[in-house]
Amino acid sequence: MLSYQHIYHAGNLADVQKHALLAWVLDYLTRKDKPLSYVETHSGRGLYRLDADESIQTGEAEAGIGRAQREGWFGPDHPMEQVLKQVQARYGETAYPGSPMIAATMLREQDSLHLAELHPQEFAALSLAMSPFGAKVYQQDGFDLAQSLLPPVPRRGMMLIDPSYEVKADYDRLPGIIAKLHRKWNVGVIALWYPILTDNRHAGMTAALKSRNYPKAICHEVTFPPAREGHRMIGSGMFIVNAPFGICDEMNRLSKLFAQL
Ligand code: SAM
Repeated sequence: MLSYQHIYHAGNLADVQKHALLAWVLDYLTRKDKPLSYVETHSGRGLYRLDADESIQTGEAEAGIGRAQREGWFGPDHPMEQVLKQVQARYGETAYPGSPMIAATMLREQDSLHLAELHPQEFAALSLAMSPFGAKVYQQDGFDLAQSLLPPVPRRGMMLIDPSYEVKADYDRLPGIIAKLHRKWNVGVIALWYPILTDNRHAGMTAALKSRNYPKAICHEVTFPPAREGHRMIGSGMFIVNAPFGICDEMNRLSKLFAQL
């Protein structure tokens, strides 16, 4: 099927939550010199242009990262702000980094990046965007890649799972998939992003995830006004296994900012 294209939504409020937490975790993990692996199952194209017709058409980036930057949600030392500045300096003021670009910008020479993307055009754009960074890019189902790769080398690191939830069944199968991946990589930080829709269809999935009693598991949810009248997404969540120490402070900080919207 694969009709979803992230360019319509890149930089929206859900991305602000996801990318701020991603940058925070990667900043934490890169404080030690020890090499790490970054694995992403649903990568998108890695680099977005917020002056593209698709982005302007929805206005989601303007209400998301546009507002966050105008209102100074991230101080100058925040890793998300530092990535934004580097990406804008390198690719122009209207560039916005997807999660693979955030990781590529923050990781060091000793680290490894493995990125899956199934959509042919998104994959081609991702390959191009990642070519300066030595990332391994796979046109493959992200869960199959994770199954075959885990535990990665180096063993320390994180995986982001960011499906487009085009298939309702994704919600049902994700708890089982994460359980399998955690069994293969019990030291890895595994982060799952999910949308909060008006019908709360994520509720069964998060209940199942929480019932597994993963080590250092934490769930962070924010709500926000819909992008336009009738739009069903009214918030977003991140479920993180092996969450780094101190992330609660960043989550609480973000919650306060989103609560003002
Ligand atoms: N993680 C990206 C970011 O934050 O910048 C956004 C990713 S977007 C929400 C989801 C992507 O997953 C889409 O580009 C879609 O083409 C891709 N996709 C859908 N099904 C997939 C699958 N089974 N395996 C890998 N990629 C898939």
